[in-house]
Amino acid sequence: MSARLEGHCLCGAVLIAVDRMAGGAYACHCSMCRRWSGAAMWGFATPADAVSVSGGIARYRSSAFAERAWCPECGTHLWIRDDGADYELTPGLFDDAADMPLDREVYADRAFACVRLAGDHPKVSRADYERDNPFVEGDAP
Ligand SMILES: [Zn+2]
Ligand SMILES: [Zn+2]
Repeated sequence: MSARLEGHCLCGAVLIAVDRMAGGAYACHCSMCRRWSGAAMWGFATPADAVSVSGGIARYRSSAFAERAWCPECGTHLWIRDDGADYELTPGLFDDAADMPLDREVYADRAFACVRLAGDHPKVSRADYERDNPFVEGDAP
């Protein structure tokens, strides 16, 4: 995988370039990510100063501490970002992310049957995730 990634949304109105990443991809099975993404959310962390974006962006404050962004033309989901933190971009925006490894699953004990992932990557339960990170009350199966 190249150090620089260039990607775009489905319609091409939003272009995103990434100069470096903080790691591989994660999958999240929390109720908000399931609802937003269909069943599970995939993302990878990228420092804000390594991301450049062009095109119009729609944003939604999905919690007191985070936003979710998408292309207002085609609806492609672009990122989740906690305030002041790294972007968590979706790997599917970038053709060159095909070999990005899966670093971990969070809310792994909440995964729907259709997205239970095989492999020996770390699987973080809801309880373990919420002990160490900000979260939204009320996650439920
Ligand atoms: Zn678009
Ligand atoms: Zn989530």
